[in-house]
Amino acid sequence: MLSFPAADVPDEALVAGSWRRGAGAPVETVDPATGLAIATVHAVTVEEVAEAAEGAARAAADPGWRSLLPHRRARLLHRIADLIEETAEQLAALQTADTGKALTETRALVASAAGTFRYTAAALETAEESITPSRGDYLTMSVFEPVGVVGAINPWNSPVASDAQKLAPALAAGNAVLLKPAEWTPLVSLALGRLVTRALAELGLPPGLLSVLPGRGSVVGDAIVRHPCVGKVTFTGGTATGRTIAHAAADKTMPVSLELGGKSPTIVLADADIEQALAGVMFGVFSSSGQSCIAGSRLFVARERYDAFVGELVARVRKLRVGPGTSPDTQVAPLVHHRHRDTVAGYVDLARSEGARVLCGGSAPEGEAYRDGAYYLPTVLDGLDNASRTCQEEIFGPVLVALPFDDEEDLVRMANDSVYGLACGIWTRDHRAAWRIARRVDAGTVWINTYKQFSIATPFGGLKDSGLGREKGRDGMRAYQRQKSLYWGTSDAPLPWAN
Ligand code: NAD
Repeated sequence: MLSFPAADVPDEALVAGSWRRGAGAPVETVDPATGLAIATVHAVTVEEVAEAAEGAARAAADPGWRSLLPHRRARLLHRIADLIEETAEQLAALQTADTGKALTETRALVASAAGTFRYTAAALETAEESITPSRGDYLTMSVFEPVGVVGAINPWNSPVASDAQKLAPALAAGNAVLLKPAEWTPLVSLALGRLVTRALAELGLPPGLLSVLPGRGSVVGDAIVRHPCVGKVTFTGGTATGRTIAHAAADKTMPVSLELGGKSPTIVLADADIEQALAGVMFGVFSSSGQSCIAGSRLFVARERYDAFVGELVARVRKLRVGPGTSPDTQVAPLVHHRHRDTVAGYVDLARSEGARVLCGGSAPEGEAYRDGAYYLPTVLDGLDNASRTCQEEIFGPVLVALPFDDEEDLVRMANDSVYGLACGIWTRDHRAAWRIARRVDAGTVWINTYKQFSIATPFGGLKDSGLGREKGRDGMRAYQRQKSLYWGTSDAPLPWAN
């Protein structure tokens, strides 16, 4: 059950420092484990987006914020981290209710969000601006300045972590932020908004530095992207939406960062530690019920091991515990929404029509306990060609498709035969083969004998249709700044045109 006090569920929008019911249409958010409504959140209107953007522009230009020294700005990030940690259990419970995710996972996401603020504070305090080599009688420097107002648009799968990933570096860089959560899962972003509001007030900083703007992407998201005050958009979500945003950004010559979809290969070589690979492959695709951009959703197994490996995998997948996110035993929680469950089921129907064998799963679980929830059984498919739609399109659910490969050339060809290039997993004891494949595969992140491990210190992002730019790492903050070069004359010698 939701342990977040019902009276405390955040259902108001934050518009330039003012909490209010949005003037747009109401959207009911639903607990996907039960199908019951949690709260009704009213969307903001395009006019309210404009109000938030103008308020953000004023806040970003506020001399008290603009000239705040890095070590003092870092205090804001630490205070937000403190508040996240103090309310961690409530945030995790709220996220489990809103997204369906298992509590074990939402607790980890909340902890990682606090860690993101702390890491970014440290990166901010230690970031250096450089004196660059001069080629004359002058000093040259390269400095970084905030873009002003950042639009941060997020999907529904890991709100608190993706919010922190954008909010922390954007604030660290000296900006104001318009945060737009996904329509299905606005609650955690609104709860985070409350914490940031509190931290801003405690430190005497302008409240308009953060707005949290719920509503439809094509209305609220689009209005954020197009608003003239917004100088940068950082987006995580589907590839088609990312492209739409990039087109709109091009009209303003505005930089964008895009973290998009994936169809990541997870590769088992013939010499792999089979126990480790079995656990890693299952975790890589079925944790978060497959609703993860980096899900290892295409499994490639060396042909000589294929039947034995896939047979054992299927036996273990059948034993995965499907249940509500609130149960400590749950390994595969419900999907985010009943409509998304239907989309996933539609993909498995498509796979059948393409000739797939459904080795396990392929339906919603049966029984009273699952009747009202958006559940779908973890599913393993095979018998398809890598060119099939099932192997090429992102399903974003608990669906794994297995394919055999003959040799390294065959493997790399198939792994790279995808519009995506987000992640890859390699299971082998052969370090040279791991190195060769890791360097040849089109992926922004490669895991070797592990999967879905994340360090805030390590840059993350995609290649090809999986995205543009990198988040995280020491330089993550720079994506929210503009670089400026300064030349400072150091000589009294006359300039060429001096009298
Ligand atoms: P989505 O693209 O439908 O929506 C993402 C966000 O964009 C939402 O807030 C939505 O309201 C908004 N949006 C929609 N249309 C818009 C428009 N025209 N202008 C501005 N904003 C708009 O994605 P989703 O279904 O919420 O999330 C799933 C997708 O996110 C998957 O493709 C997944 O791979 C991707 N994802 C990527 C990463 C990554 O880091 N690469 C991480 C998580 C999720």
